[in-house]
Amino acid sequence: MKIEININNLVRENVKGLSPYSSARDEYVSDGSEMVFLDANENPFENGVNRYPDPQQRSLKDVLATQKGVEASQILLGNGSDEVLDLLFRAFCEPKVDNIISLPPTYGMYKVLSNINNVENREVLLTEEFQPNVGEILKVMDQHSKLLFICSPNNPTGNGISSTHIRELLTNFNGLVVIDEAYIDFSKDASWITELPQYPNLIVTQTLSKAYGLAGIRLGICYASEEIIAMLNKIKPPYNVNELTQQRALERLHAIDDVRNEIAEILRERNALNQVLAEIGFVEKTYPSDANFILAQVDNATHRYNQLLNAGIVVRNRTTQPLCANTLRFTVGTPEENRKLIARLKEIDN
Ligand SMILES: *Cc1c(COP(=O)(O)O)cnc(C)c1O
Repeated sequence: MKIEININNLVRENVKGLSPYSSARDEYVSDGSEMVFLDANENPFENGVNRYPDPQQRSLKDVLATQKGVEASQILLGNGSDEVLDLLFRAFCEPKVDNIISLPPTYGMYKVLSNINNVENREVLLTEEFQPNVGEILKVMDQHSKLLFICSPNNPTGNGISSTHIRELLTNFNGLVVIDEAYIDFSKDASWITELPQYPNLIVTQTLSKAYGLAGIRLGICYASEEIIAMLNKIKPPYNVNELTQQRALERLHAIDDVRNEIAEILRERNALNQVLAEIGFVEKTYPSDANFILAQVDNATHRYNQLLNAGIVVRNRTTQPLCANTLRFTVGTPEENRKLIARLKEIDN
């Protein structure tokens, strides 16, 4: 079955009528010939970054398009995926009118962005197995439900969301389904990017912040239909991805084998850490992870959190999250860091 959607019915009225801001670097695109650039009020003295960056990040998108098997016109880049997610709100959600659906326990930014954008956030708890409650989601959905956020693998629980549930939601949700794949490179599951041709209502977000080891440069990526990307391009700030970020991202994408080796090492460490955690007396349960962190249920999360802090180790206390009472989230570190963590865990386990 082919899903039919009309983006013009989903996008905000004011965005529909916008044309993208045209910057100096948009109006004249270099064809490689020697030109004198006197169009953007830049300082002419070369220092590597005296010129504005490419507002369309063409080189970066070309590499990503090849690696991911999409067209460059299906990619939007942002200052972290947090900016990408914010652009989705601003393009599709009319404040005080539209709503989004999110599935706690999950990534906190969906709620933060809904508050900032004054858009109702309808929360439908995951099940005990941390899977979406599809019936309930479709029940709370109405004609103003514009975005459904599915985080897979999910943060903080670490599990992937079942593809059967995702397909059901893609088929039945009347807005856009955003799959946040911040941790996909650690997962045994494939990315949903390859499904974009089947589902015009699908948006996939990824980031260089986790597996690619570039949290400091802020590069988030949105993959979607050309139509959706064109809407987002209308509202993105012209120079939202700076020159240094574009350069570092390109270098890293060209060193994809290094990235893969680091991922493999993190996964080995994760699996070893999971075994040790399970043997710690105060750890009651560890949850299977498809990401670079492990959620564990302990006897008293706040107490154990403080003990670890005193021992020089910072983990994340998730005890206040729904379905996460007395849980701690452990990011997988270097082998050395993990050895330290394990030693401290054993020390306080008395
Ligand atoms: C870390 C994280 C992000 C953050 O992405 P940035 O590109 O660093 O903004 C997005 N989504 C989830 C689920 C995350 O855990």
